[in-house]
This record gives sequence, structure tokens and C-alpha cells, in this order.
Amino acid sequence: MKPIFHASLVNDPFYDPVLFIRFLYQSRAILFDLGDISELSARDMLKITHVFVTHTHMDHFIGFDLLLRIFLGRNKKLYLFGPKGFLKNVEGKLAGYTWNLVSEYVTDFRIIANEVREDLIIKREYVCNRRFAPEREKIFSFRSVLLKEPSFFVSTTILEHNQIPCLAFSIKENFHVNINKEKLKELELPVGPWLSRFKEAIYKDRDAEMDFTVTWEEKGKIIKEKKFSFQSLVKEIAIITPGQKITYVTDVNGSQENIEKIINFAKDSDVLFIEATFLEKDKELAKKKAHLTAKQAGMIARLANAKRLVIFHFSPRYHENPDILRKEAMAEFTKQINNL
Ligand SMILES: [Zn+2]
Ligand SMILES: [Zn+2]
Repeated sequence: MKPIFHASLVNDPFYDPVLFIRFLYQSRAILFDLGDISELSARDMLKITHVFVTHTHMDHFIGFDLLLRIFLGRNKKLYLFGPKGFLKNVEGKLAGYTWNLVSEYVTDFRIIANEVREDLIIKREYVCNRRFAPEREKIFSFRSVLLKEPSFFVSTTILEHNQIPCLAFSIKENFHVNINKEKLKELELPVGPWLSRFKEAIYKDRDAEMDFTVTWEEKGKIIKEKKFSFQSLVKEIAIITPGQKITYVTDVNGSQENIEKIINFAKDSDVLFIEATFLEKDKELAKKKAHLTAKQAGMIARLANAKRLVIFHFSPRYHENPDILRKEAMAEFTKQINNL
């Protein structure tokens, strides 16, 4: 299976948390958290369509300004999601600059911000040409899904961090489609742009009863085409497997309630990105600062049955030896269940 999401931490684990998730074969990316993003190229920043912010402590939200600056003057929509109080934070950021010149821009840049509460979302739009004044407020109820597209969805759970809500995020492909190249050859079908069309159709409605046209193309021109029943083509050439899941958790206290919620939320993740701020021996400090220890991170990953564990958001006190955090987390993660 070739994963469609490629997730990587933008910064060193001692610095601001930001997870950049790139989409294979698309000029598109999303972010989990918005700490300092100056390590990203402008090209990569411009691929971003959605940003999901866990909470607005400075190290998770300071990247807003740079992103805003790169997007200004372009025809773009930027969707933001954050916890209770988020709209006030976004509006505060936007109020920090003078916008007397933007009404002359011919381009349409707008921010669509979503504040996530227990069971509802408050959405507001901020249009650049209108000096980012809040407009078009909508309130709708929600359970856990923040974004739903034909091929994937992003969900959240609300956790607790130092008496404030903090969101965890998960992105999951609905299912994964591979094309059986051997079968293509057997059926004498070409490799080409029709395959993306075909995959899209599967994601939209894999049970649809319809015809599908395979096209042979040369230099962008269709030179031959042939009609198939969509269902029989799916049966012949598509290999459908469970989709990829990436989960991101940071800035949470290690309470039993949080830990149980995270294990459930991260169930069967292909990759779990989770903070491991302190060593278990400093757990009193972890408690006081409302962060997880490396041991807790490893245990959560194991009990959630995650395939891979990546830890980050290390306290500067371990600067000399970050490997002890990794060792502690990995030892716990790889422990056999029957050794417990
Ligand atoms: Zn933090
Ligand atoms: Zn924090």
C-alpha cells in the first residue's frame, strides 16, 4: 500500500510543534498545529488548505502571522479549526495590523475559522478585501468529524490541558485504492489520467451502477476510448484495503480520563504523533505542567495498537540527551502485553 498522506514534524522535537501532512499526487497539504513554520518553504505553505490548532498557547499558534503574510493578495481560502476561544484569538491576531490598503486587492483571500465546542462549531469568515471584519457566522452541531471529503476525514476529541480544552486530531483515509497493474496489462488498458478519475469515482460511490469510460491519451488528446461497467472494472482492477490513519496528540495532562480518551481516539493508527515532554522520573513536574511523560506516551501507543510511534515536544531540561526520552517511550511501546 502506497500511503497517500506523508506526515512530518516541521521542527526539532525541542521546538514548536507543527505537523505538515502532504497529499500524494496533489499539490495540497494540511497542518496539525501552527507553531513557528519558518522552516517550511513558501511553496509548501501555499499548498496548505486546512489548519487544525490544538490550543492557542504561543508555541502552537505563532505561525499564524507568517501563513497570513504568504497568503495575502492571493486567490485562496484558508480553513482554520481551534478550541473554545479560538475565534477571539484569530480576531485578535487580525486586529494587530492596519488593513487600509487591502480593499484595492483584486484577489479574493478569505479565512474561514471554526471554533470547536463540546457539541457545536461556530464558524466565521474573514474576507481580506473587507479588512477581515467577521461575517457570515454559522453555528452547527457536530460529534467528532471536522472535515469530510470523498477520500478522507479529519476528526477530533476534546482533551484537558491545564484547565483549558485542547484538541487532538486524526486524519483517516476512508479506504485505500490500489490498481492491479498486471490486470491492466491483461485487459490491454493504458496507464493514464483516467486512473485518477477512476479512483475518484470509487471514493465518491464505490457501489454506483454506471458506465465508466477508459481513455487512451496522447499529449492531452483522447485518441481512443472504451466503455465499461464501473462495477466490473472495480472488481477487475481495483484492490481496496483499509485506509491510512495518522493521529496527533499534544499538551494534555496524564489523567486517567484523558489517557482513556486518547487510547480510544488513536485506535489502530498507522502513525501516532504524541508528546513525551518529561521522563517518568519527573512525573510530578509533568503533572504540574499538564503534559505527558515518555512512558505514558509509549503506553498509550501500545494500548491503542498504533503501528508506529513518534514522540515530540520535549522539555528543554533533556537537551543534552533526548535519546533517554525516546528509549523510555520505545521500551514501553514495545513491551509485550503479557509482560504487564
Ligand atoms: Zn506546548
Ligand atoms: Zn500548551
